Amino acid sequence: MEHTQWDAVVIGGGAAGLSAAQMLGRARRRTLVLDAGSPRNRFTAHMHGVLGHDGVAPADLLSRGRAEVERYGVVVRAASVTRVDELADRVVVALEDGTSLTTRALIVASGITDELPDVPGLIERWGSTVLHCPYCHGWEVRGRRLGVLLVSPLQAHQAQLVRQWSDHVVVFAHVPLTDDAAARLRARGVEIVDEPVVEVRDGEVVLLSGRVMPVDAIFTMSAARPHDTFLAHLGLARAETPFGDLLTVDAAGKTSSARIWAAGNVVSPAANVPLAMGAGAMAGAAVNGALVEEDGDAAVSSGAEVRGAGAQGPE
Ligand SMILES: Cc1cc2nc3c(=O)[nH]c(=O)nc-3n(C[C@H](O)[C@H](O)[C@H](O)COP(=O)(O)OP(=O)(O)OC[C@H]3O[C@@H](n4cnc5c(N)ncnc54)[C@H](O)[C@@H]3O)c2cc1C
Repeated sequence: MEHTQWDAVVIGGGAAGLSAAQMLGRARRRTLVLDAGSPRNRFTAHMHGVLGHDGVAPADLLSRGRAEVERYGVVVRAASVTRVDELADRVVVALEDGTSLTTRALIVASGITDELPDVPGLIERWGSTVLHCPYCHGWEVRGRRLGVLLVSPLQAHQAQLVRQWSDHVVVFAHVPLTDDAAARLRARGVEIVDEPVVEVRDGEVVLLSGRVMPVDAIFTMSAARPHDTFLAHLGLARAETPFGDLLTVDAAGKTSSARIWAAGNVVSPAANVPLAMGAGAMAGAAVNGALVEEDGDAAVSSGAEVRGAGAQGPE
């Protein structure tokens, strides 16, 4: 067991986790970020829709973020969390290397894994010509021949969205569309193909019959697998959502535990980088607020003046 008593540990050093850490570091909290180093958008060369950082490589944003938080005394460590346990006054975080540490508060910002539909050719092109978010990558393929691989009825809206970026849209309906959704798409000139796609190649898709259709980029929907198994045994409140079974959090990211917050894709899989940053910043501030209250309680009950308890960082 490591001796340092951290004020806050953040699991995940992506957009959400580093934003949380930035708030905490600037609030002079002894903060540790544990990061396994696989941000969700690592498959794409350029990030879009991120004000002030449009076109920046995802890895560049994160290395800039790490440098910024380290300036405020935050420690960023390459590590993978395997288990989290709650005690009355702290949280114990166990790491893959067999060590463990304790913290007064925990922020889970560990993201998700995208499980893609089982169609050959998708994974290799994920983040380049196989896409999920038209706001992130629609502009780059505007006006091109776009496909929508429809594997969930939830994607009817995605198909309508994609039409905003091109007049040439084909929906490959692996699951049936409602009559209403199909009518709305057809009315806007979208072709609907009921035959399954069996392979995605550069510039084309192959249908079950062997027919080949030209497609420059294809949008689809992944199944989101949240990285939260390390706390599954805690029985925190969860809710079934269109994206699966996710931890329930309030507007500040608080879970049903008094000492655990969560932010970013792990609880909000549809969030892009700015939304993940916002949620992380909110959770960071909320954790500091909760610790301030706890410091106040401790000061009152000890009868002593405790100024800046737990504070650290450069003056
Ligand atoms: C292909 C693709 C392209 C995208 N393009 C864009 C774009 O252009 N613009 C945009 O705004 N958004 C884009 N996104 C969305 C973007 O990836 C997410 O909004 C963002 O990554 C969410 O940040 P996060 O911090 O919640 O999670 P992540 O960025 O995924 O970070 C989570 C971190 O936690 C770590 N972690 C996981 N489990 C553990 C553990 N047990 N212990 C320690 N660390 C752990 C991970 O390794 C990872 O480093 C894209 C997504 C994809 C899939």
